[in-house]
Amino acid sequence: RSKELGRNSFQMYKASMNARSLERLSMQSRFQSALENGEFELYFQPLKCLVSSRLTSLECLLRWHDPNLGMISPAQFIPLAEELGLIVKLDEWVIDRACAQLAHWRKANIEIRHLAINISAQHLTQGDLVSTLRYALGKYNLSGTQIELELTECSFVSNFQRAKAVLTELKTMGVSIALDDFGTGYSALSYLTKLPIDILKIDPSFIAKIPDEYGNSEIVSAIIAMAKALKLHVVAEGVEKQEQMRFLQKLGCHAMQGYLYCKPLTQAAWYEFYQAEKLTS
Ligand code: C2E
Ligand code: MG
Ligand code: MG
Ligand code: MG
Repeated sequence: RSKELGRNSFQMYKASMNARSLERLSMQSRFQSALENGEFELYFQPLKCLVSSRLTSLECLLRWHDPNLGMISPAQFIPLAEELGLIVKLDEWVIDRACAQLAHWRKANIEIRHLAINISAQHLTQGDLVSTLRYALGKYNLSGTQIELELTECSFVSNFQRAKAVLTELKTMGVSIALDDFGTGYSALSYLTKLPIDILKIDPSFIAKIPDEYGNSEIVSAIIAMAKALKLHVVAEGVEKQEQMRFLQKLGCHAMQGYLYCKPLTQAAWYEFYQAEKLTS
């Protein structure tokens, strides 16, 4: 009897396993066909220099237009792609498209000094980021100095030595390294001096509460002071209000990104923004 029970629960277990792997499989093929059918699109969000008040760089932000579900946010599909082991493939697609875009803009005489690409933490340990980027730079005849890679702290936690080796190699190619979502991680700050990081991006959760909320302004001001002392470029993310911008400017924050300056744009909308910006500067 107990043998029978065991067999039953094993059958049930097998059935649920099958359902799970089926789901996994269908999501995997959904991603694959989405890539092939051009359902992914890169948007671009401009960053503004707080010293010169001019456009400094752009960040690539991925969008997924599902024909049935409509627009799916990267906050939803990036974690899913990570779980399914598809993120490296997606990042590689973004790297290729971002570099193609830079080459295209160069032809159109649009001067982009820096284009930032988000790289998933898994990419540092599972993929070959250096080869992928080197290949794309060669394919579109670009310099590494035009590329900024945005990483989060998680990238260094799982395999510090490997992350350090990859970042060091990227630096020799002229690539800049930004630490995204700064202030939300849990690791020690010592990695700031142990890794070749160039840029700190302060997480929007801190920016949302300045300048009014006591404690937050002090944290933001301390982050900016620390970044400057370490000779890092510091960027505030999620700036939506004029008073936030003024506060950041007073503290000597180098650049800002947020709806106050501009939302993420399609490539066509970006082109218009660029033309208008050129006229006013
Ligand atoms: P992130 O890299 O920190 O990107 C900034 C996010 O803040 C973007 O969300 C942007 O649209 C949003 N944002 C910009 N300004 C404001 C503002 O003033 N207010 C508010 N509330 N939000 C603002 P998005 O595009 O939804 O992307 C979410 C996250 O998904 C990104 O966070 C990034 O971690 C990830 N992601 C996006 N594109 C890619 C990609 O190509 N590859 C990888 N691996 N991850 C990506
Ligand atoms: Mg980012
Ligand atoms: Mg990011
Ligand atoms: Mg961020």
